[in-house]
Amino acid sequence: MGRRKEFKVGKSFTLTIKTLGWMAEQCQEREMKASEWLERLICKERERLNDQKRRNNKYHCIGCNKDVILKVEGFVNQKFYCSECGKDHTEGVKYLMRMNKDGSKTQGT
Ligand SMILES: [Zn+2]
Repeated sequence: MGRRKEFKVGKSFTLTIKTLGWMAEQCQEREMKASEWLERLICKERERLNDQKRRNNKYHCIGCNKDVILKVEGFVNQKFYCSECGKDHTEGVKYLMRMNKDGSKTQGT
């Protein structure tokens, strides 16, 4: 039992006056320490991004005839499978990824 030792970040970082002012206000309203408030904020954002990732991971499986979550295997040569029937969707997903890439890069290199 007892207090769990906290991991502390010793490095300082810079915020704008505007942000600092708003942060102070938010902390006062909630009677929280800035570190607690930041921690909560970051957690929320992390959850939001994780959620988004999960949603982006949905793919229409022709085998299941519905949107399913894809299972990803590997890092360099990623393979994508339907998490429900196991159908290999690697080609389709890679095609979509290429389309997204081309769409965001209009000027080329
Ligand atoms: Zn499927």
